[in-house]
Amino acid sequence: MTEKTETREFQAEVKKMLDIVIHSLYTERDIFLRELVSNSADALEKFRHQRLMGDEVFDDHLSLGVTIDCDEKEHILTITDTGIGMSREELIANLGTIAHSGSKTFLTTLAEADRKEVNLIGQFGVGFYAAFMVADEVVVQSRSYEKEETGHEWRSDGTGSYTISPSTGIHRGTRIILKLKEDAQKYAEPETIKRIIKQYSSFVPFPIKVSGDEINTVQALWTRNKNEIKAEEYNEFYKFVGTAVDEPLTRLHFSTDAPLAIHSLLFTPQENFESLGFGRMDPGVNLYCRKVLIEQHSKNILPEWLRFLKGVVDCEDMPLNISRQALQDNALVIKINKILTKRYLKHLEEVAKESPEDYEKFWQTFGFFLKEGATSDFLHREAIAGLLRFESSQSEPGKMIALAEYVSRMKEGQTDIYYINGPSRKAAEASPYVEAFRKKDIEILYTLEPIDDFVFSHLGEFDGKKLISADRADLELPETAAGELESEGATPALAADRQEGLSKWIKEILGEGVKEVKVSHRLVDSPAIIVNPGGFMTSSMERIMRASRAEGQADLGSSKNLEINPSHPLIAGLDRLRESDTDLARDMVYQIHDNAMIQAGLLVETRQMVERNYRLLARLV
Ligand code: ADP
Repeated sequence: MTEKTETREFQAEVKKMLDIVIHSLYTERDIFLRELVSNSADALEKFRHQRLMGDEVFDDHLSLGVTIDCDEKEHILTITDTGIGMSREELIANLGTIAHSGSKTFLTTLAEADRKEVNLIGQFGVGFYAAFMVADEVVVQSRSYEKEETGHEWRSDGTGSYTISPSTGIHRGTRIILKLKEDAQKYAEPETIKRIIKQYSSFVPFPIKVSGDEINTVQALWTRNKNEIKAEEYNEFYKFVGTAVDEPLTRLHFSTDAPLAIHSLLFTPQENFESLGFGRMDPGVNLYCRKVLIEQHSKNILPEWLRFLKGVVDCEDMPLNISRQALQDNALVIKINKILTKRYLKHLEEVAKESPEDYEKFWQTFGFFLKEGATSDFLHREAIAGLLRFESSQSEPGKMIALAEYVSRMKEGQTDIYYINGPSRKAAEASPYVEAFRKKDIEILYTLEPIDDFVFSHLGEFDGKKLISADRADLELPETAAGELESEGATPALAADRQEGLSKWIKEILGEGVKEVKVSHRLVDSPAIIVNPGGFMTSSMERIMRASRAEGQADLGSSKNLEINPSHPLIAGLDRLRESDTDLARDMVYQIHDNAMIQAGLLVETRQMVERNYRLLARLV
């Protein structure tokens, strides 16, 4: 059966993408070439890999590379590679649909984007379509490396559909023919093309020829001696490997001989794309063996929480023909993963020491990933702990300290590290939990993000000191020179022999709403406080667990203690009031409990609280 020319519609997302590309992205058009050349480079890497795996290949004699021809007269630019090529099905799937999961979010963002964002095209698996920025018509001729396949031609003006037809006499690989738009005719000038290739693609590890001249210096930067590499070369390489437009925030270039021979070049970017709303990032480090790409954007050579890194790892001990599946639980890969992670964490420590400002920027941008690591990566959590940063009662607002700094300032006799969660520093400072710390002049860390208490609970301790949340019921603060709490010394407003009776009475009123009611030894200015007798879960953690519980699931029930401050006039007054006006005293108990719950960051039943509040206010008028 002879195949005919078939006309097919683009997938809706592709149409949208093309519409954006053709109509609104007229700035920085040069990048279309980077996208097409890097597709060619990928295709060449894939081909080399397949051949190494022992596959029988078509046109084996062709040398690997990219050839670019400029037809200035006809305004045609042709890019030819001898890579893996595409079959008919692959042409349809790859150049007619968008498979990448992040692309849809990207499209929405791109629709409102300013000019800078066009550079992100390559990050989201839509690079090929950039060809339509400069061309009225794009023709793709391709022949797969597989022997039994045949060649095909794909053709489109980018407006909604494309045609696909059989094509004979083509070599292995892909040829892209761009019929340039009138205002893009400069892209048929060899000098322009050479300039762009030098700018964007000088690290493509295959020869690129423009009008007969080979213009890129094929080099594997990571295997060269550090001392011979200039900063610009590193930066250019980063732009190439990370599809970036800026410079990296930090870079780590290192080699090891034992236990494995590794050359690695890792970059920390400036931006966290996840926080910019692009969805979960794909990993950005490529695995090589002796300069041959084994796996692009490898999921295996670094833990998931380091997915923001860009770069390459070259391991000489890696078998070249290892399959994708085998990479997953390969013992060697696990070893590489450990070595890289350890070394990168050490690098961060060095950055923190040598350029604190860079580390601060790093922490602001990628701190969350380290926290993710602290809660998910048992192996590295100790090293991560040293890199964590928090605000504390001794730090300037907005400034962060390391746990080690806290430890170095611990008071004599203090054995634990204390922290308290709050929605903001101001809120944490004003909460009843820090009163005792202030009075005793003991430093307390503020955990201001929801994940923080989970991080501390996973760590358990740092440098042999337990990490203790200040909302624990069994909190015992050491004695310090700064002074005793009133509850420890002076005569309380509520006489000692009345304390137990009042506590019992409050418990009767609150019932299941609290676990126990106790007299507090930690309060200074507040009448009451909610604390956790369980020890493990902090109020912040509980709030998150509750929020994530499906509706209709059984309530966790209160596991909280209410502590009352015997030195507080309100508590002493409550004890008198319960005999003179029981109803009013009951309302007061509920209100004190609700207030303490709110200060613990926990939800209260609003309707009842507001009604009660008005009842209490009504007494004042
Ligand atoms: P990305 O390269 O980010 O995946 P593109 O839209 O640029 O996205 O390309 C889509 C797919 O088309 C590629 O993943 C690849 O499979 C295929 N492709 C593009 N260019 C070539 C080429 N020169 N040779 C072989 N396959 C290609």
